[in-house]
Amino acid sequence: MDENGNQKIANNADNPQVEKASNNVRQNLEKHTDISSNGAYIRLRSSKAFCMRDLFVYISLAALVLILFIAFVFPVKDDDGKGFIVTRGNATILIYTFGSTPKATDLIEVEEVSNGYKIKIYHTSEKIGYNVILFNDQLKTADVIESNCSERKDCYYAPSISNSGAIYCQPHDLKITPLHGGDDDGVIAG
Ligand SMILES: [Zn+2]
Repeated sequence: MDENGNQKIANNADNPQVEKASNNVRQNLEKHTDISSNGAYIRLRSSKAFCMRDLFVYISLAALVLILFIAFVFPVKDDDGKGFIVTRGNATILIYTFGSTPKATDLIEVEEVSNGYKIKIYHTSEKIGYNVILFNDQLKTADVIESNCSERKDCYYAPSISNSGAIYCQPHDLKITPLHGGDDDGVIAG
């Protein structure tokens, strides 16, 4: 043997012990990198690259889950959501815009509460039938919180609406929709 490394390696082939050890190393490398015999070093590198891809996929999935979670827990407020409009048939009963004070009339009572306004809307001048709507200025929601429309009170039990959907009180023919439109989206009849 001389000082030339290549020659040393070549010479190793003549040494059964060295060759065996060398084969063991190669086999271990192949086993741990899950590859075939050729280009062990390159495949080891590509194996690392695969791990990085895995990591990227995991991070992407985690980010997606986080985005979906945020989207569901904190619904994105549409810029178009300016308030709500209350209609009876084709007639507009009340337009409420966030941050403004609703206008009281003979058939509409306005009460300011801590988070917005409670609006009592009478169905007729006899002031028997009514719905009470809570406009929540902080949550940007509208909700029927009281009604004597029917036994079922579907409008009362309907979930509050924000920038989409509608609450419809069939006995009083009263409809609450977001001010930006989408009147026929997810109408809750009752
Ligand atoms: Zn109702």
